Amino acid sequence: MAVKLFDRVALIGIGLIGSSLARVLRRDCPDTAIVACARRAETLDAVRRLGIADETTDDPAAAVAGADLVVIATPLSAYAEIAERIAPVLRKDAIVTDVGSVKAAVIRDLAPLQAAGIRLVPGHPVAGTEHSGPESGFAELFQDRWCILTPPPDTDPEAVAKVTQLWELAGMRVTTMMPDHHDMVLAMTSHLPHLIAYTIVGTATALGDDLKSEIIAFSAGGFRDFTRIAASDPVMWRDIFIKNREAVLEILQRFSEDLTALQRAIRWGEADTLEKRFRETRAIRRSIIEAKQA
Ligand code: NAP
Repeated sequence: MAVKLFDRVALIGIGLIGSSLARVLRRDCPDTAIVACARRAETLDAVRRLGIADETTDDPAAAVAGADLVVIATPLSAYAEIAERIAPVLRKDAIVTDVGSVKAAVIRDLAPLQAAGIRLVPGHPVAGTEHSGPESGFAELFQDRWCILTPPPDTDPEAVAKVTQLWELAGMRVTTMMPDHHDMVLAMTSHLPHLIAYTIVGTATALGDDLKSEIIAFSAGGFRDFTRIAASDPVMWRDIFIKNREAVLEILQRFSEDLTALQRAIRWGEADTLEKRFRETRAIRRSIIEAKQA
């Protein structure tokens, strides 16, 4: 059934996440005009070829003209400049949201919007793959995943409700959190695992050539799963670690202490300690499966 939440949606950044949302809008909101913005001609060519936007531009200010919803879906390092460029030209009643994986620092970067009185509803659809670009998107990406909104306390409830409806249309479960809390939770569930994967694959890369070919041949022993995560977009992940520095460092400290404890247990042959820990972690896996997030 066709739904109309917004008349004109500007997607600034149309990669995996932006293009997946465009596909949801195409599927469920055929009367909503979609404007896609990216820097490179090849990205905009791909968007036109895929037919997932009505208009394309490389100018964020032109993209947001007349839009009642703006979704920022670029790497985090682009936010501050985009906010400066769009703040003076946005419709006064526009809602601006984003999909960034870090929230507190990003909200600071978007301050020009709040200064201009724009309704800002920061968000993070916790769904993704290791692929990038408009070709890699698909409408079902968000199905049954969580979307975390982190609106400032005085945000117009109607704006929060409309952004909530949009993500629900995409099949997501929506919740709200304080930005700092979001950043700590995601540092544990997403940022640390990526850092570990990047480290393990980096360690393997630094080994001699003989060993390297064996690592590739025998990768099904566990390494293969890390290589998938470590294939994630380098620019996106560079920005996540720069923007979520405090929370990542804190979680990393805890992780290092736990790793040292396991190292000691292995060194001193403390079989019970190892088995107890592995039983606990197996239970976590079961709860994730039960919560249908596996
Ligand atoms: P992506 O596939 O690399 O897409 C990024 C898009 O932004 C591209 O269309 C890129 O096109 C455009 N872009 C980059 N800089 C720009 C600028 N200055 N102005 C306008 N457009 C610009 O990235 P993604 O995976 O969709 O990630 C986008 C955001 O979603 C990130 O902030 C990330 O933290 C968040 N996120 C990602 C995932 C995930 O798993 N991938 C999950 C949840 C949230 P051009 O290069 O042509 O400009």
